[in-house]
Amino acid sequence: MTQSEIYDLIIVGGGPGGLSAGIYAMRAALKTAIIEKAIAGGQLNLSDAVENYPAITHIGGAELAMQFVEHARSYGLEEINEEVVAVEPGMEYHTIRLSGGRVIATHAVILATGGTPRKLNVPGEDQYYGRGVSYCAVCDGFFFRNKDVIVVGGGDSACEEGLYLAKLARQVFLVHRRDALRASRILQQRVEAECKLEVLWNTVVSEIIANDSGVHRVALQDVQTGEMREMPIDGVFIFVGFDPNNQLVPAGVRMTPEGFVVTDAQCTTHIPGIYAIGDLRDKTARQIVISAADGCTAALNAAHYVESRKASKRDESCELPTGMADL
Ligand code: NAP
Repeated sequence: MTQSEIYDLIIVGGGPGGLSAGIYAMRAALKTAIIEKAIAGGQLNLSDAVENYPAITHIGGAELAMQFVEHARSYGLEEINEEVVAVEPGMEYHTIRLSGGRVIATHAVILATGGTPRKLNVPGEDQYYGRGVSYCAVCDGFFFRNKDVIVVGGGDSACEEGLYLAKLARQVFLVHRRDALRASRILQQRVEAECKLEVLWNTVVSEIIANDSGVHRVALQDVQTGEMREMPIDGVFIFVGFDPNNQLVPAGVRMTPEGFVVTDAQCTTHIPGIYAIGDLRDKTARQIVISAADGCTAALNAAHYVESRKASKRDESCELPTGMADL
């Protein structure tokens, strides 16, 4: 393998964190590629609107995603559209294996693989996915115009998506297992003010029921009284959190019991040269701005790491063989 085939940095995952890392890495003149198996921009593409990315009052999720992509492309960031099957730490270089068989050697790796929507794990959820069960209001809301839908969850996602669906659906019922929402105060206020959105407190979905044309009822349970009831409904949108996409995290990298990667403030994992950022990393808030900031932090630290490795290799190659110095 020649030096020119070895990358300084490989970024795995093309969401806001990965793309921000790409921007900073290119500005630091690192030989960098970003690998994304699906759509560049990641989960951001699924958001209807973003109103909390500083300096941008309101923007569509897909539009903001495209701006991240175009910004990274403006620096000539190499994009590889393939699935990564393994990230293998090494003493000399780390190795990235792609589904097509290609193997890439790199000094540093930034893992930016994000998370995946969590399931309710109730009967009917898997069976009727795509036939009335959805995890994306922006993708599927259109099919429920003037229909009745429920949104499950009480966090930012459930409230945001519920508010989006209220613009399309006849009625939205937000089914939440407690008597208080977890979502930020501003979203709670909007939910309260939206007349097409009704919160069903202390309630869980115990079954999703369908007929030939898709979902048409849900079984609900009041968690305080235990009372069960069925409710006619056309669609079920589930937003009950998400799990980190940690399948590529190599052995030796520490994770929390929930599967988030533990890093220091530099986004460094327990393996030198391997960084974790964004929703994959253990932290208190999961926001686009934090993923972007993580990307910056990890790329700048990777630049120092790569430079110091190269400098020590240069020093080694300049050292005279043992004994020569005395001649
Ligand atoms: P989240 O904050 O973890 O909220 C998940 C919600 O689902 C909680 O209300 C939880 O109830 C409920 N839940 C979990 N498991 C459940 C189950 N099995 N059955 C019924 N309900 C269940 O997840 P999220 O809303 O997806 O947000 C994830 C992160 O992204 C958060 O940090 C959030 O702030 C951030 N986010 C931010 C924005 C924004 O700022 N615009 C938008 C979206 C997401 P409990 O409350 O009882 O635990």
